[in-house]
Amino acid sequence: MSTEPMNETSSEIFGKYVFSQSVMQKMLPKEIYENLVNAAENRSSLQQEYADTIAVAMKEWAVKLGATHYCHWFQPLTGITAEKHDTFLECTSDRVIERFSGEQLLQGEPDASSFPSGGLRSTYEARGYTGWDPSSPAFVWKAGGGVILCIPSVFFSWTGHVLDLKIPLLRSDKKLNDSVMTLLKCCGIEANQVFSCIGLELEYFVIDRFLRDQRPDLLLLGKTVFGAPAPKGQELQDHYLGSIKENVLSFMTDFEMEALKLGIPVKTRHNEVAPSQYEVAPIYERSSLAVDHNILLMELMRKTALKHQLACLLHEKPFHEINGSGKHCNWSIISDTGMNLLNPTGTPENNICFLILLTALIYGIHTHAALLRASVGSASNDWRLGGHEAPPAIISIYLGEELENVLNDIEEKGAYQRKGGKGKYNLGIPIIPQLSMHNTDRNRTSPLAFTGNKFEFRAVGSSQNVSFPATVMNIIVSDGLNKILEEAKLTKIDSKSPLSQAQLIETIIPILQKYLKISKGVRFSGDNYSSSWVQEAKKRKLPNYTKCVESFAVLKSPETVRIFEGILDENELKSRYEIVLQQYAENVNIEMKLMMEIFQTQILPAALKYQNQIASSIHAYKEVSSKKEAIGRQNALLQTVVEAIENAIRISEMVKDTWNQSSTIADLPEKASAFANKVLPESANFRKAVDHLETLVDDKLWPLPKYRELLFLG
Ligand code: ADP
Ligand code: MG
Repeated sequence: MSTEPMNETSSEIFGKYVFSQSVMQKMLPKEIYENLVNAAENRSSLQQEYADTIAVAMKEWAVKLGATHYCHWFQPLTGITAEKHDTFLECTSDRVIERFSGEQLLQGEPDASSFPSGGLRSTYEARGYTGWDPSSPAFVWKAGGGVILCIPSVFFSWTGHVLDLKIPLLRSDKKLNDSVMTLLKCCGIEANQVFSCIGLELEYFVIDRFLRDQRPDLLLLGKTVFGAPAPKGQELQDHYLGSIKENVLSFMTDFEMEALKLGIPVKTRHNEVAPSQYEVAPIYERSSLAVDHNILLMELMRKTALKHQLACLLHEKPFHEINGSGKHCNWSIISDTGMNLLNPTGTPENNICFLILLTALIYGIHTHAALLRASVGSASNDWRLGGHEAPPAIISIYLGEELENVLNDIEEKGAYQRKGGKGKYNLGIPIIPQLSMHNTDRNRTSPLAFTGNKFEFRAVGSSQNVSFPATVMNIIVSDGLNKILEEAKLTKIDSKSPLSQAQLIETIIPILQKYLKISKGVRFSGDNYSSSWVQEAKKRKLPNYTKCVESFAVLKSPETVRIFEGILDENELKSRYEIVLQQYAENVNIEMKLMMEIFQTQILPAALKYQNQIASSIHAYKEVSSKKEAIGRQNALLQTVVEAIENAIRISEMVKDTWNQSSTIADLPEKASAFANKVLPESANFRKAVDHLETLVDDKLWPLPKYRELLFLG
């Protein structure tokens, strides 16, 4: 931890720990370098015979930075990363040397049996392989005095079944590329490749580490299972964009510097709405790289916070009655020529391309709203979604007034005529005006908002690996686009004899009108937090899964299996369904165990001590005084405390019964549903009863740090 001014600029340290293209260019023969760059950018596959040369260069570079070990760094279905370190050391007959071969670079073989596989394991085998993914650069990770060369990898079983989150994302990007390239051809737009890009704004809390350590719930789960709101919360709105506390700023500076060295382009930081809540956002990147960087960033934040005697909480809802944390996933499609296809520039080709893409997107989101909901579902995110601080679980799209007008005009008249302004653009073709940010976003209540040149998916949870929601976005847009283009018979257009603008418009507009009509229900510009929206959404037949467990079944629906063709097969989807349910149930179990243990071993003893304190005091008074009626109010106070304790014990017993009964249910979906619909609602009452005790019991006796200390210290 250093508060010294830095003598290197941010741009000088950027990517220092990354085996970047410029390092590769210096260290590798030209043809190998070019092959590697092409492979990294998904243009061709890597030539295996180059692997040894690349491995030697990578090792030399890493050893110079102090690396002693290497690991394949991958993302199993736990949602977090996994790694198994090996040294470079190798014993030959007469000496010990540092060696790293192409074979070691290309493939690893960790035991897959302890990772979640959701049934794939029992059907197949435990053996799993990691394979180098050149689309994300290798990097060195410094921790605990050690330096490790990390090789971003994919993870699969020996039968070729996908066991990670990255393969589907990479495949979905390829699928998106195929559909969008067909569209570009129809529109006469030149490009060789397109890919999805994401920029992730991450909200998080930072609190004192020693106070965190005194709370078993924060320590084990990252959230408080009990805790009465402090007399002051976020109502004064004095935290958002306020000046950042000095110790927190020092922590931010430190982790951002480390992030820059790892090539993570961190850009924005600020105070968020809730006390002790903050946000960090890097500049957007290709999806799979952005996901890797996001995971690395979260790890860096956790690690760096501890060095500063702070704790970084990435849980979606660490504190009751103040805002939780999300991860806004800004998503767009960019071409290798640098064109953002979601940016309406006003040229005729771009206009029509944008319109088709937008229609495909709206249609995809409308058709697969439940899948999108499921993609952000978790026990922790359920605490946040729909809590009047975050988007509800009803998936809808906010487009902004101007774009709404454009789409309504297209739907009704087949063309958009710009109102006002100098010229009339009624050329028989739809003209999309350049949309300024002011005309689009700023409805912060929508789960999906168009923000001028990208979509912002706001229902993602702060602790979540974004791979799956990003995969779903890619696939549903690609599927919508394929449908539209197929219906317009545009999938086989020869680029040598493209359609004229007029022909294209004539063919496509009636189809867009149809698809816009079908999917109109998912467009909503009002207040998504209002209860009237819930009613309205019901009328529009939009799915509203307030509990994620109810949405998960969509993962194995025939329609999901169909759109996932080439990405994940039916078994793989089914395995994911089982894993998310299992994770949900385990999470609720941990929460229940924590509640019971903290209540029994910390809160109840403190409350009983307080009860005893008052009772003894009354008793002592009665012993010495004849005016017994004078302590009527103290008797009443004692009665209140007795009743509050009795009530908490009674509810704890009820919750325990329901939890025990639900735990015995053998059928996993049924068990998860019982946890969601019976155990958690009862546990909310338990929490209320305990939080009430917190407001009664002597502060000195209360065994857990309170919200005011956790959120306002410093
Ligand atoms: P705000 O809080 O106003 O929504 P921020 O500046 O906090 O905006 O974050 C916006 C995020 O969107 C950043 O990560 C930024 O890099 C990202 N972003 C900007 N343009 C695109 C794009 N075309 N595609 C994906 N993400 C983008
Ligand atoms: Mg932001």
